[in-house]
Amino acid sequence: MPIISAFEKELAIFSDRIKMSENIVIIHHYNPDGDAIGSSLGLYNALKQTGKNVTVISPTFYPDNLKWLPGAKDMKVLGKKTQSDPTILDGADMIICVDMNARKRVGAIQPQFDKSNAFKALLDHHPFTETFTDVTIADTSYSSACELVFEFIENSYLKQYLNKDVVTCLYTGILTDTGSFQYSSSNPNLFRVVGKIMEFGIEKNKIYNRLFNAWSEDRIRFMGFVTCSRMVVMPEYKTAYIYITAADRRKYNEKFGDTENFVNIPMQIEGIIFTAIFIERDNFIKTSFRSKGTFDVNEVSAKHFNGGGHVNASGGESYDTLENVCKKFEELVRGEYAEVLKNYVY
Ligand code: 5GP
Ligand code: MN
Repeated sequence: MPIISAFEKELAIFSDRIKMSENIVIIHHYNPDGDAIGSSLGLYNALKQTGKNVTVISPTFYPDNLKWLPGAKDMKVLGKKTQSDPTILDGADMIICVDMNARKRVGAIQPQFDKSNAFKALLDHHPFTETFTDVTIADTSYSSACELVFEFIENSYLKQYLNKDVVTCLYTGILTDTGSFQYSSSNPNLFRVVGKIMEFGIEKNKIYNRLFNAWSEDRIRFMGFVTCSRMVVMPEYKTAYIYITAADRRKYNEKFGDTENFVNIPMQIEGIIFTAIFIERDNFIKTSFRSKGTFDVNEVSAKHFNGGGHVNASGGESYDTLENVCKKFEELVRGEYAEVLKNYVY
């Protein structure tokens, strides 16, 4: 059970620094998801009411279905050119990182991040959080960075700035990171937080529809094609995976974020507890892994696919061909993980 009070000392340092700072930058991991954007913007909407100069910097583009979030239009979203701007973090006296466990997760702006003399703080819920900031509040028992950010705000002088915009952003990240409350990360504390969030009169159904019922026709057809023609099921090992070629992406006019959640499709098959997706991007193969129960996909990703994440959700990048990545995955399933998977009872 997450307990924010365990971080009494860090909370004091963190909020004192916010009080002292005039130019605050909030930053999340590259290829941000709903939790990264939601936690950044939740914090942003609270902090901007203090009158300070607050900027959210997104290291890369973010999904279209998050563009309606309060404050999203004020975000500084970096592209290839702006990422290499050496002055991008100049002037910040405090940098708050959310939803990331390693400095390399800031992506291409890491040189500017490392060079910056700003006071750095982190709010995270991943395992194996590196110490790369001056103050760290990190606890894996939080379902999402957004759940943690809610408690952080509530337990600091920022509590007075909690409002509907703030909690709409936080609720968004909670929904996306918990798979709408289906994952085991949904703890009793989360529902207490959600109860408090509801008191602000958020439009729960509208938020849901904007997040999950807002795809293009192309994307829905892409999902159908992928399910029909690009899904490999290995029932004996309770495993299934999807692969997508660059040509597939072009054929279905893929937009950023379209393949989000495809990795969960095979999870809907009875008996499947381990899924993966391999997507041929321009210079690498994007990998994602998901599991049910105790099967640790963070280990799979960290050990074999240059990545990491959580027990039940992880990702990474491979620099081999799509065919070889699929082959390697099948070999791992039939080899190193065979016994655990075959005997897995869920
Ligand atoms: P996704 O499959 O959606 O990219 O990532 C699932 C989870 O794993 C997310 O929590 C994400 O932050 C984490 N993750 C994805 N890629 C990486 C990576 O390369 N390194 C680490 N450490 N975590 C990752
Ligand atoms: Mn998260």
